[in-house]
Amino acid sequence: MRWSQYFLPTLREDPKDSDAISHKLMVRAGLIRRLGAGAYSYLPLGLRVLHKVIAIVREEMNRAGAQELLLPALQPTELWKATGRYDVLGDVLITFKDRTGKEVALGPTHEEVVTDLVKELRSYKQLPLTVYQIQTKFRDEPRPRFGVIRSKEFLMKDAYSFDVDLEGLNHSYQAMYEAYQRIFTRCGLTVLACEADPGMMGGDVSHEFMAPADSGEDRVVRCVACGYAANLEAAKCQTSDIRHQTSESLKAMETVKTPGKRTVREVSEFLGTAVTKLVKTLIYEADRKPVVEQGIPPKLKQHKIAKTFVNEFGPEPVAVLVRGDHEVNETKLARVLGASLRLAGTSTIERLSGASVGFTGPVGLQGVRLLVDHAVMEVVNAVTGANAPDAHLVNVNPGRDFQPETVADLRMVTEEDRCPKCQGRLAFIKAIEVGHVFKLGTKYSQALGAVFQDARRELKPMIMGCYGIGVNRIVAAAVEQLHDGQGIVWPIALAPFQVLVSVMESENAEHARLGEEAEAALTKAGLEVLLDDREQSPGSKLKDADLVGIPVQVVIGKRWQSDQSLEVSLRATKEKHPVKPEALVENVRKLLDKERSS
Ligand SMILES: [Zn+2]
Repeated sequence: MRWSQYFLPTLREDPKDSDAISHKLMVRAGLIRRLGAGAYSYLPLGLRVLHKVIAIVREEMNRAGAQELLLPALQPTELWKATGRYDVLGDVLITFKDRTGKEVALGPTHEEVVTDLVKELRSYKQLPLTVYQIQTKFRDEPRPRFGVIRSKEFLMKDAYSFDVDLEGLNHSYQAMYEAYQRIFTRCGLTVLACEADPGMMGGDVSHEFMAPADSGEDRVVRCVACGYAANLEAAKCQTSDIRHQTSESLKAMETVKTPGKRTVREVSEFLGTAVTKLVKTLIYEADRKPVVEQGIPPKLKQHKIAKTFVNEFGPEPVAVLVRGDHEVNETKLARVLGASLRLAGTSTIERLSGASVGFTGPVGLQGVRLLVDHAVMEVVNAVTGANAPDAHLVNVNPGRDFQPETVADLRMVTEEDRCPKCQGRLAFIKAIEVGHVFKLGTKYSQALGAVFQDARRELKPMIMGCYGIGVNRIVAAAVEQLHDGQGIVWPIALAPFQVLVSVMESENAEHARLGEEAEAALTKAGLEVLLDDREQSPGSKLKDADLVGIPVQVVIGKRWQSDQSLEVSLRATKEKHPVKPEALVENVRKLLDKERSS
């Protein structure tokens, strides 16, 4: 391919709207262009990379025994209403009416469609089945950001497994988990398999595959010692070994005046008490019905907890206690309660506590369930709200002065916490979610009637798993992880071309001929080659070569004048070798092998 004829425009300046290094470099290196908010065009070079990712994903899915199919992006919304996700997704679901007046949606995911499809399978003998597709998804993201990392239209590989029992599901899940590890390794990415919120199914673990990156929107914790990794919502707080070994004796509880002091900081400063001695009491309202969205991947859940808050019986107030320096983890709380929830409004708080917001406490609080985080139980002589205007209680002792209904892990992990598995130090890492594997259970099969007859001729719902990979995100994550000050450093597996042949003086007929010969020889050897034959300055060509990041560069320039050699270099290490034209193919192959194994 000749660059002079190739639609590969590079830019020296960062795009104005960029907020991630991958976005900047993907625009500048001519991979993508922005069309509108959250919508990107892939130029030929970008599409080549995308196709490399797709090929790896497809190979590994097939190897894991999954069967490829293709489901429509255009879907009747009846299916979404049948599973309750029409309301759950709300504005994220892009809907419109077709010419017959029927409402349709652009699929943000395909659980409904695929479950409806497999209803045709009737016998346990036809299961297990895992199917997948590589398809465009649509989500009306409230805040599209970071280029292709959070966009409204994106390419996803989504797979769905159907099993007859839990053991089968675990087997299908494991096959996908292992396929994912092979995919990310082959793509040259560093990815952490993080424990994630399993959703309301409870019990089972789900995993998110997180690529550490500065532009990552997700936070994960990782144990430096044992490798335990979890996303921030799912990270368990260690409970057994954090007991404060204290000789402090329990004092008598007293009420103190704290006029206008509502926040942890204000109360702590006013009373001269450490924030770790304070206990926060938050009032939530929990939906008494089991949550409908048990099968929704955690990322989608964030959009709609408030929206789906429907309750036939009225919401149930719940008081949640965490230490002053801790934050409530609403994902954990929702799981303990088995309900969706939201923070109570001012009027509920005032009705329950008899005081305005900021003075609520557990002692004497009536008509409300009391859920207490483990760390609170270890505070001696705590400070809490007094359920009276402008007052707090001091020397409150859990178990003596109030009785929790439930003690559980209800808080976000902090930097002071230790690994729940080995007590090692935890690192907090920013990351991009590039994939997830998730045990769905029977939510969709029950709602849509995907049942099979077992060996005893009993009808049972199929047990499902779902497995997603963000194809565009793999490209962005690779750029995030593999770049330097000059540009992208593609891993060979994803590189749009393996070799760039740069003719420094394209008007020199001999050099131009050498460039063409080099391109021809390398292409004949089965390599993908881009020939930079543009009429540009050598400096500009070298800059573009670094920016675009093709692994091996062959330069026809000064060296040819001095000793009739070409210069072969590796983008990653910048090491350079003089090579005679007849030895070019062999040398390039050697360098590629070396780079592959590094
Ligand atoms: Zn550990």
